[in-house]
Amino acid sequence: MPADRGEPIASSTDQAPTSVRTKFIDYDARPRPKTNQWCVACQRDLKPSQARRYVYVTGDYQAVHPDDFARWTPRDKDFSWRLIGNACARKLGMEWTTDAPARPGVSPAPPNAT
Ligand SMILES: [Zn+2]
Repeated sequence: MPADRGEPIASSTDQAPTSVRTKFIDYDARPRPKTNQWCVACQRDLKPSQARRYVYVTGDYQAVHPDDFARWTPRDKDFSWRLIGNACARKLGMEWTTDAPARPGVSPAPPNAT
């Protein structure tokens, strides 16, 4: 998405481009997962066949945008990479999730080398 350079800074409510975007995960803490493969949002167990994505979760349950993850400074209380079911990933926004977790300081979706 190209930045709109014509937009006056004073009226912009967007975060600065260098900041890390985060989004609260509206999770449901009621279900008790029975396995260690569960969705971080609805906290239901994921069947092995069920499509899943990964989302980086901070200590206050904010998703870190994968495009900004390389600039994220991990904290001890972070939940780190968690599984999220496809349905919940859609609710959160697919762009907040990735196919595979990335290491801190590394973008999870590196651009193609070509
Ligand atoms: Zn879910």
